[in-house]
Amino acid sequence: MSHTVDVAPAPSAAAPAFDLNALREDFPILCREVHGKPLVYFDNAATSQTPRQVIEMFNDYYSRYNANIHRGLHTLADEATAAFEGTRETVRAFLNAEDSRQIIFTRGTTEAINLVANSWGRTNLAPGDEVLISMLEHHSNIVPWQLLARELGFTIKVIPVDVDGALDMTAYRTLLNERTKLVAVNHVSNALGTINPVAEMATLAHEVGANILVDGAQATPHQTVDVQAIDADFYAFSGHKVYGPTGVGVLYGKRELLEVMPPWQGGGEMISTVSFEVDTTFAAIPHKFEAGTPAIAEVIALGRALEWVQGVGLGAIGDWEQTLLSYATQQVRKIDGLRILGTAPHKAGVLSFVVDGAHSQDIGLLIDQLGVAIRTGHHCAQPLLHHFGVDATCRASFAAYNTVEEIDTFVASLKRVINMVR
Ligand code: PMP
Repeated sequence: MSHTVDVAPAPSAAAPAFDLNALREDFPILCREVHGKPLVYFDNAATSQTPRQVIEMFNDYYSRYNANIHRGLHTLADEATAAFEGTRETVRAFLNAEDSRQIIFTRGTTEAINLVANSWGRTNLAPGDEVLISMLEHHSNIVPWQLLARELGFTIKVIPVDVDGALDMTAYRTLLNERTKLVAVNHVSNALGTINPVAEMATLAHEVGANILVDGAQATPHQTVDVQAIDADFYAFSGHKVYGPTGVGVLYGKRELLEVMPPWQGGGEMISTVSFEVDTTFAAIPHKFEAGTPAIAEVIALGRALEWVQGVGLGAIGDWEQTLLSYATQQVRKIDGLRILGTAPHKAGVLSFVVDGAHSQDIGLLIDQLGVAIRTGHHCAQPLLHHFGVDATCRASFAAYNTVEEIDTFVASLKRVINMVR
């Protein structure tokens, strides 16, 4: 397919600080075709693609040292345990946590937030208390609090956004008060790309004695995260959005909080002693929160993904995605009747838009026929989309391996598709 037709040439300075061609070669999937066209994968905010170094970890694990961890006294179990616990240290360093015992492996961001709700929330929230979430939240940082509020009777308050999709910090300051027990906010919005000032929000939350939980699902792939600098009480992310596998994620928590929080799931691995006669006792952190056999291979592969991402450099990745975002923004703005949702000054590589006279769903289906993968729908952020008066948007989201030429293909394809449906 021609990449050049009717778009302005890309700025010649547009080159990442890493070798883009070499980096693309790490991703076998980027060579495939979709409907006979080269794949242009712009659905990175939903799931990023996986480099072969991470894929190879599965082969390596299942071919050489597949065994259950922590329990065995045999070589395979020792090797699997060492690799698993080694990843805990990799994650600790990735987040700049103080201690690897503050790193809890979960199935993903969703499970990490549910852990906080069911353990910390259930023991610390009561009628009269307030939990502040934001209009920008993914359903996974809304519904766990709603479920718990129904049971415990606390109140959920919502921090509004301005017309650009930036959080209204004046409203945030006003909403905070001595009843606020928790602020639960995403670091980067998946639907609009807005980057929230989470360190400032943490300072303000702490001034009223509240804790802050940061949903970092969309931040960890694009920027260096330092949980100590943010002063986050809890921080969550998912492996599959940061070049790692599905089925694994992380909850970081402050040690003094995790140590007194009760377990939320019972089973093997999380106990100290189990008895029918006296009270069962629980393991120390992090194992207290890791009941049952974890996703061993996925955790180990996540460690490799984080090493890969740090090898490329998150600063360089973030800068490149900003180049892609501004070029794509500039190009789609030329399309008649296209409206971008999310124009906050601080944005990650997410381009959400609607087009007059063309349903987002139709655009998504037709552009797929041209080999371009974007996401259409509510992006699990229905309250936010309703706030902007829409049910769905089209969303193109960028990763380290995307190119300016792919944006040209996307924009040309988008124009073709719009002409077909209008
Ligand atoms: N929060 C945000 C901001 C997200 O983008 C997502 C995934 N779209 C989630 C939470 C949930 O992540 P997961 O499905 O991996 O648990």
